[in-house]
Amino acid sequence: MGVPPDPASGLTALLPEGAVLTDPDVLAAHSRDHASTCPAGVPACLVRARTTEQVSAVLRYAHEHRIPVVPQGARTGLSGGANAVDGAILLSLERMTAILGIDEENQIATVEPGVVNADFSRAVAGKGLFYPPDPASWEMSTLGGNVATNAGGLCCVKYGVTADWIRGLEVVLADGRVLRTGRPTAKGVAGYDLTRLFVGSEGTLGVVTKIVTALRPAAGAPQTAIAFFGDIGSACATVTDVMTGRLRPSMLELIDPIGLAEVSRERDYGFPPGTDTVLIAQSDSSAENTAVLGGFTAAAERNGGQALVADGPEEGKLFLAARRSVGLVLEKRGAMLSDDVCVPRTRLRELVAGVGELSRKFDVRIACTGHAGDGNMHPAIVFDAADPDETRRANEAFEAVMALGLDLGGTITGEHGVGALKANWLERELGPVGLDVHRSVKTTFDPRSILNPGKVLTRF
Ligand SMILES: Cc1cc2nc3c(=O)[nH]c(=O)nc-3n(C[C@H](O)[C@H](O)[C@H](O)COP(=O)(O)OP(=O)(O)OC[C@H]3O[C@@H](n4cnc5c(N)ncnc54)[C@H](O)[C@@H]3O)c2cc1C
Repeated sequence: MGVPPDPASGLTALLPEGAVLTDPDVLAAHSRDHASTCPAGVPACLVRARTTEQVSAVLRYAHEHRIPVVPQGARTGLSGGANAVDGAILLSLERMTAILGIDEENQIATVEPGVVNADFSRAVAGKGLFYPPDPASWEMSTLGGNVATNAGGLCCVKYGVTADWIRGLEVVLADGRVLRTGRPTAKGVAGYDLTRLFVGSEGTLGVVTKIVTALRPAAGAPQTAIAFFGDIGSACATVTDVMTGRLRPSMLELIDPIGLAEVSRERDYGFPPGTDTVLIAQSDSSAENTAVLGGFTAAAERNGGQALVADGPEEGKLFLAARRSVGLVLEKRGAMLSDDVCVPRTRLRELVAGVGELSRKFDVRIACTGHAGDGNMHPAIVFDAADPDETRRANEAFEAVMALGLDLGGTITGEHGVGALKANWLERELGPVGLDVHRSVKTTFDPRSILNPGKVLTRF
């Protein structure tokens, strides 16, 4: 069966009025995520789904006519995962925004995929509960996108990543059938763990239409400490000391010299003169705050830093605001290629030093901010895309950072996903057998290869 000339008219007949959009400006605005350098195709239409039945109707149609479908949340991704491919149906889940239930007794919640992370976190906080995964994009990104990318965040260092908080999913399969995975219970091992398989699958195996999350009792009010360093190596040594010293901060973030200079151009955060790198630590348990923050400040001072405990929540929030704004500030400076390598924590210092060497070797600026407590850094290469030579050097540096991460025993992506940006690198990390098994899984769930083609796996 051939591709019909106009999938928009076929879908318009199946869906409510206004659900299918073809305005070229709207399509262009929805054709890419925040990976500014990643190619995007020209889609056939955008569907704004409001129900599981509508998602199912779209996929049945696309499966029958072999039309590519790109699921989309808020398009804050940093790997081109939500980027359009030519002729695709962009399937936006952003309008599925219901929080269907918060079960306080069982400490679980059921939500639709378009709920924004921060809205959900505030809703459960209102009931004295806590949903920990908090990507720096939490005010923008959707829970569906967080599930599809297995998003990490700032407090993952203590509480784990999105996958650790998902009990079950409703997923529409490529042929339109609706699958329910997992269960609301605290335990359950009947059958394969399909929930984990879908978490992090980046829209290539199915479209998530409902999410059952675990919750926990609200943590204590966080207390923040800050350490200022004259060099990034000392900051990394402090991270290793803290994490190998059995302390459990609820956040341990690093702002590197380039990130620090760029956020300081936007706003005066009051960093002391001579500061080149900042570490921000938090503890959110009154029973542990003194030990955790005391251990942190002592480690910082041992490594030549100046440390202080924030004199109240407002000062803590200010330093955190600097950390949260680094990505958006860098995006304003030019084209950006954002790496996402994660290495064993004890190798953080080697990673940061290696990135510095690559910056010199390729003569490009590489900011290296990130979730230092997890060993997960975001070396971000900011460059002038109008300069072909600088663009080539930036791309070479981007690849060299991934090679460095693998050489240090790490991964090419700790939380942003493979998307289109790193698909060529998957085999290098997984090896031929791993890649072969991935291809078999893809073929089982999506035999006609309509779901987000070209993402994660380049071919199969
Ligand atoms: C300033 C900034 C800071 C960030 N900080 C972090 C961070 O700290 N940690 C982190 O992990 N990430 C971070 N990110 C990256 C991004 O926000 C996350 O990857 C986020 O999870 C994407 O959510 P989204 O709703 O924007 O999804 P999108 O970008 O729209 O989609 C992401 C992927 O998920 C798929 N997808 C989306 N919804 C569904 C669905 N319902 N079913 C199936 N597939 C779906 C898409 O096809 C795509 O492959 C940051 C991004 C920015 C711009």
